[in-house]
Amino acid sequence: MKVLVNFLAREVRFVTETIGKIMAEWTKNGKKSFIVKVPKSHHIKEFELLLKQMLIHYQVPVKTEVQEIPVEIRCKCGYCGEIKNSDPTEVIRILCPSCKKNHAKVISGKNIEVI
Ligand SMILES: [Zn+2]
Repeated sequence: MKVLVNFLAREVRFVTETIGKIMAEWTKNGKKSFIVKVPKSHHIKEFELLLKQMLIHYQVPVKTEVQEIPVEIRCKCGYCGEIKNSDPTEVIRILCPSCKKNHAKVISGKNIEVI
């Protein structure tokens, strides 16, 4: 239970940012349907739960669909592929799992995208 609470606490910041983007679009353009692409470094289930609860709480009448996206990197050594990472704050500089020398460039799954 304590672990779950920690994950929820961690995702609150990301959910708050996401809701900020959704509300900006909704108030500006009246958009009511959103796709939220969440990197696998997040706890997707907790994120989705919080997102839906907070939208109800703020009375924002929009539909959201949460999609999971992989975290993928490309390294100078030629390595290119998906990596396993369980902390979204560590997706800024990732040590290449192949050469273990270079910090690889994250080409997908760096941030949450709202479409
Ligand atoms: Zn490498």
